[in-house]
Amino acid sequence: MQNLRIPGPTPCPPETLNELSRQMINHRGPEFAEMQGRIMERLKLFFRTENEVYVYTTSGTGVMEAAIVNTLSEGDKVLSVSIGEFGDRFGDIAEAFGATVKRLKFEPGTQADPRIIAENLEPDTAAVLLTHNETSTGVTNDVAAIGKAIRAVNPDALYIVDAVSSLGCLPFATDAWGVDVAMTASQKGFMIPPGLGFITLSPRAWAGYERSNMRKYYMDIGKAKRYSELGQTPFTPAVSLYYGLDMALDMMYEEGLEQTNARHHAVADYTRGRIKALGLKLLAEGPQASDSVTSVVVPEGVDGKQLLAILNKEHDTVLAAGQGKLAGKIFRIGHMGIVDTKDIDAAVEALAIVLEQLGYKKPAAVG
Ligand SMILES: *Cc1c(COP(=O)(O)O)cnc(C)c1O
Repeated sequence: MQNLRIPGPTPCPPETLNELSRQMINHRGPEFAEMQGRIMERLKLFFRTENEVYVYTTSGTGVMEAAIVNTLSEGDKVLSVSIGEFGDRFGDIAEAFGATVKRLKFEPGTQADPRIIAENLEPDTAAVLLTHNETSTGVTNDVAAIGKAIRAVNPDALYIVDAVSSLGCLPFATDAWGVDVAMTASQKGFMIPPGLGFITLSPRAWAGYERSNMRKYYMDIGKAKRYSELGQTPFTPAVSLYYGLDMALDMMYEEGLEQTNARHHAVADYTRGRIKALGLKLLAEGPQASDSVTSVVVPEGVDGKQLLAILNKEHDTVLAAGQGKLAGKIFRIGHMGIVDTKDIDAAVEALAIVLEQLGYKKPAAVG
């Protein structure tokens, strides 16, 4: 079996895969209403929020777009904080829909600094966009600390957080951290295929919705809210993925949210340890290093593209390449969703073999 170690889509367990082949039901009938009710109730637990969580049939980018078009208006001043590719994308979406976007970028491989974010806020900044876990660099931002820093200078700005590669893996507390809009997607931490996005809005964000004049139709969350009260979605949902999600939430509930977070931390720590034991360098170290994806610097003299190609072809091991400015400079190991140390052992052992094949020599200082 292929060892798919990319940061999404992640491997699905047989339990959720089996659900995907079930027969269709009426998406405007009682069976669907019951299932959707169950799903929405449990998603609130995983988002750690008292507010409703809505499910869209879309990828992660779709719910990022939903976050923007539902809460902002054309010309709104938005501070887009970016520590990598996904942070850049969030700013791009806001710009595409007519927001006035100020970009605040931090060096790839580092965290966003709450103090600098606060310094860049203006009294009329309508929203701050942040990526919780930057999948392109393997760095996690401190959402709680940044939330506090924002509130201290601007009590009204919406705090909009992309939690696509963190929610369900890393601790995330929508309400306690003062997050106004949080979103995630099915193919990262939720052990089902791509195709569903989840989003929640605080009362402050709903007030933004009431004012919002950005164009929207499919993504209009007011429609999602009205239909959810009938046990439906406004448009035909990916029913099969709902079956899978229903099962995945059972499994996650059984493991326990804290335990799922602890397992991700343990596997990530283990991954970092094994990578360093090969004499390789991590792009990010310390508390900012992501517990759902690890970025490794491609060692001098090794062709990163060739490394990943041989791992795939000869070892059935799939790692992710660097994106954007980091293309060819790093590779990434995904460890989110259903993952344990054995998956990491297999990947690292294959990696050691291919590195040696490509002429890499472990530095003498490493034991
Ligand atoms: C995967 C991901 C997304 C969404 O990507 P899609 O391909 O649209 O699902 C957004 N943000 C982050 C941080 C991600 O990791």
